[in-house]
Amino acid sequence: MEISFKGKRILVTGAGQGIGRGIAVELWRAGADVVALSKTRANLEALQSEYPSIDIVDVDIGNWEKTRQVVESLGHFDALVNNAAYASCEPFLECTTAEFDRHFNVNVKAVLNVSQIVARKMVENKTHGAIVNISSQASKAALKDHTIYSASKAALDAMTRAMALELGPHGIRVNAVNPTVIMTEMGKVGWSDPAKANEMLSKIPLRRFGEVKEVVDAVVFLLSERSSMINGVELPIDGGFLAT
Ligand code: NAP
Repeated sequence: MEISFKGKRILVTGAGQGIGRGIAVELWRAGADVVALSKTRANLEALQSEYPSIDIVDVDIGNWEKTRQVVESLGHFDALVNNAAYASCEPFLECTTAEFDRHFNVNVKAVLNVSQIVARKMVENKTHGAIVNISSQASKAALKDHTIYSASKAALDAMTRAMALELGPHGIRVNAVNPTVIMTEMGKVGWSDPAKANEMLSKIPLRRFGEVKEVVDAVVFLLSERSSMINGVELPIDGGFLAT
């Protein structure tokens, strides 16, 4: 399926590595003017050294005011991918207030912040834009030691639906994708232990984890006009995990 984003300006958060980097590169390949936003400057510089026409911005989206100031200064976007997130694993009985706040600050509150700024400008400019939120299978199924992360992604799914409802009348579509395990740096946090990995693999009908490219392809589709009537969905990319 040939998809072109020529003439479109797209913001991707968490584009320094992993899935976000993959999304930024694929959108660039499809002709978009990509702004890659992330936390660690060195990762962004590595991306830009390979793809010099991708613009880079480093900001910790956990900082509401700084993020607001930086994203406001970036101007207008035709599309947004809310990909940056934080994950740590701990048993329910050991969950702390600090971990709760850290997850919700980055995975939920920052998405509200960045999306508000971008969507306001889309509305002002009458842009029929698209937003994709990167959620997780963990929003839908209980995974051991993932209480806070799961709750934050369930909140993100709820925010996706609310955004789809309120931004839809402006011609802005908002969708989420919900991947299974992808072996990025974040994937390694939860799934490096072979015993845990094998247990998860046994519950995925395709008997494998996902690839970055498989998430990228779904995001590209949801950002494109090929999905012009799709709004408010939470799309599993999970080899059938959630179907069982
Ligand atoms: P990753 O490899 O850890 O990359 C995350 C990216 O987000 C990094 O570039 C990181 O910056 C950036 N980031 C994190 N916190 C940030 C903050 N406060 N401000 C700005 N940037 C920040 O993770 P990933 O696996 O690609 O995950 C991408 C998305 O997929 C996340 O939403 C995640 O929840 C979701 N997901 C992942 C999996 C999986 O198994 N990997 C499964 C389901 C869903 P640095 O460059 O500083 O590290």
